[in-house]
Amino acid sequence: MKDVNGQILKILHEHNLKVTPQRKGILNYLMTHHNHPTVEMIRSNIVKDMSNLGTATVYNTLNTLVELGLVIEIQNGDGSTHYDYFAHPHFHMICTNCGKIDDVSFDGYMGEEKLLRENAEKETGYLTSKSHLEIYGICPNCQKKLRLNLINK
Ligand code: ZN
Ligand code: MN
Repeated sequence: MKDVNGQILKILHEHNLKVTPQRKGILNYLMTHHNHPTVEMIRSNIVKDMSNLGTATVYNTLNTLVELGLVIEIQNGDGSTHYDYFAHPHFHMICTNCGKIDDVSFDGYMGEEKLLRENAEKETGYLTSKSHLEIYGICPNCQKKLRLNLINK
């Protein structure tokens, strides 16, 4: 990703959104970090560049971006919502033990996703726009920890 600022301005213009420092800051953070942050993680990371950036503003901006399909929400069971800039199709692994969220993308995914949506459209008559796949399991770290706990008992 070369000219992030140029991309952000293009995105905001394309969606008829006024260019504000808050929107620019939040989009920039999400486009350059793939750590699936919470509202508070985003706010605390960009607040130093902005005076009085409240949680409500971050939350409202994220909601707008989610409605436009630019950002997706992910629940990992830790009680908070995580956010992800969703320009490139990928899916998520979620650890049901620690809540870790990992990206997965493999070459075949775009084709499989298209096939899935085409069949869904055929079956239901819906006009589809996007999908989001989550696979749940136990992450490698937790597998180790759980195994150690078993041994120690
Ligand atoms: Zn885990
Ligand atoms: Mn992701």
